[in-house]
Amino acid sequence: MKYLFILILSYVTWQWMSLYLFATSIGNKKEAIKIITDNKLLEIIFKKTGLRLASIRVSSSQKPWGMMIGLPRYPYMVLSQGLYDSFDKDELEYVLLHESGHYMLAHSAKLAVLFISFLTIGFVSVSNIELPLIWIVIALIIGLIQIQMSRLCEYEADAFTLARMTNPKGMITATQKFAKAYKHFDVIRHDEDTFLGRLIYMGIPYNERIRNAEREIIRRKR
Ligand SMILES: [Zn+2]
Repeated sequence: MKYLFILILSYVTWQWMSLYLFATSIGNKKEAIKIITDNKLLEIIFKKTGLRLASIRVSSSQKPWGMMIGLPRYPYMVLSQGLYDSFDKDELEYVLLHESGHYMLAHSAKLAVLFISFLTIGFVSVSNIELPLIWIVIALIIGLIQIQMSRLCEYEADAFTLARMTNPKGMITATQKFAKAYKHFDVIRHDEDTFLGRLIYMGIPYNERIRNAEREIIRRKR
């Protein structure tokens, strides 16, 4: 029982943002997941990243987001309807390459291995402890460490993407669209470097992401 409790609480702490984004798909009066086989998009992904996708899933969520789920050999890319409808070609390329980068760099597998390792350590350390408060603390620590590990993957995926983008400006305008759509999360997402933001949110601060894209644009002009 306590192990299941720690597993669930640490997972929710780690993935709260993804769970929130998935929840925005619920109750949209549309099919929750639609399969698209837009050959032009799939071709871009293959040409630039080497990832052969048979299809992309589009969730009915009106918030803009993209996600790569799935383990090695089983890539599963999900975009939201909100993103699919409102992002232009270059912005869409940013998201597609970034999500493909997560797959090509085996991020979900690496994070799963880390998660299992930290959980094992956590389980062993509470094996003789029957204080729920301690279980909660251990679960929160595991979740917060996973958030930091996930952010390293974000940096890696962005670097992978920037090196392959046709027009790195798409990364800037895409980031501005994200910033606008998630204004209610400003305190943790938008600000340059708040401690709280770094602690509980796995994404790269928007301003930093824009600066990285600008740097790439300048580098290409040389
Ligand atoms: Zn990412």
